[in-house]
Amino acid sequence: YQSKLPTVPTSIFAIMSQLAAKENALNLSQGFPDFKSDEKLIELVNKAMVNGKNQYAPMPGIFSLREAIAEKTENICGVSYNPDTEITITAGATQAIFTVIAATIQKDDEVIIFKPAYDCYEPSIELFGGKTIAIQLNPEEFSINWQEVKSLITDKTKMIIINTPHNPSGRVLSREDMIQLENLLRDTNILLLSDEVYEHIIFDKEKHQSAALYPALVERTFIIASFGKTFHNTGWKMGYCIAPTELTKEFRKVHQFNVFSVHHPTQVALAEYLKTPSNYLELGSFYQHKRDLFLSLIKDSRFQFKPSKGTYFQLLNFKNITDESDFDFAVRLTKEQKIAAIPISVFNENKYDSKVLRFCFAKTDDTLKKAAEIINRI
Ligand code: PMP
Ligand code: GLN
Repeated sequence: YQSKLPTVPTSIFAIMSQLAAKENALNLSQGFPDFKSDEKLIELVNKAMVNGKNQYAPMPGIFSLREAIAEKTENICGVSYNPDTEITITAGATQAIFTVIAATIQKDDEVIIFKPAYDCYEPSIELFGGKTIAIQLNPEEFSINWQEVKSLITDKTKMIIINTPHNPSGRVLSREDMIQLENLLRDTNILLLSDEVYEHIIFDKEKHQSAALYPALVERTFIIASFGKTFHNTGWKMGYCIAPTELTKEFRKVHQFNVFSVHHPTQVALAEYLKTPSNYLELGSFYQHKRDLFLSLIKDSRFQFKPSKGTYFQLLNFKNITDESDFDFAVRLTKEQKIAAIPISVFNENKYDSKVLRFCFAKTDDTLKKAAEIINRI
């Protein structure tokens, strides 16, 4: 059989979570909370089901949810997006990202991404005949060299994909980064996909740099968000895409045949839940507490680290511990020490021998304590 994606392996998240389950290991690999979503939100979904919201939702999503998203975006970023023509509810961020790429990328289009990169961008680009132009983030700071970006823009460049706060590094883009990007893209036809799924998980009083804050970006940007990250229910696979009318039109041409519409009762519940801003505005301090607890417990371990600035991931460097590849080390830790983490070289096609593992700290304090006990023994 002639594969369309001959070199694409099974996602590392499937591999590590399966191994963690088989080995009965503490799973800090795939990013998901091990605590419950708010009971109030669960009750709202239940109520919507009991009230009969069990048939197809409108194709772009229910209007009240799109309206609530428009309001949240206006309150935070001061930009008003039209809920009717510029916001679409999706089955998580993954379906939104895939749909953006399907709707825009044609054969030989170039898409600039920054590596290490979240694993769904590149195969999606490849599937539609696009060419990924990968730029390495600085290996220490995970920062972007904008001169390098400029030098790699050609007349084939169709899109740039950014992700802040960044998975897997936990770094965030600064206002200066966004201004550089804005200057690069102004007066071009280049599109921007801004993966902002960790928009509310940002620490140390930093402000999330949404593309919505920058006028020359707004007109060309698909902003992607995920309720799974924000409301502790990654299994619900709910998210959305915000983009100007002309781009949303193209997005919906694909969305309607990719999924048509997404889970109706959850949309009804989220529309109501979003009316209380503290439900998302307190997320940064909630996870900052977890980051600080985790790091204080492992500060004397043999791993080295710089505190994560956002996301619920912490990178730990193991170069003082072993010469093994990060993948081999991750597998051995899962089997022998009963703790699972993600080897980050997979976000870089295994090209770089990174000696870094990614640990998810979206866990109860009790799980974090158990994890720290293991990490301190390694
Ligand atoms: N982008 C990034 C950077 C992510 O970390 C994730 C989730 N792990 C996604 C997209 C996909 O989000 P969802 O689960 O809502 O599809
Ligand atoms: N986003 C999650 C992570 O980075 C995993 C999502 C998935 O399993 N596809 O761990």
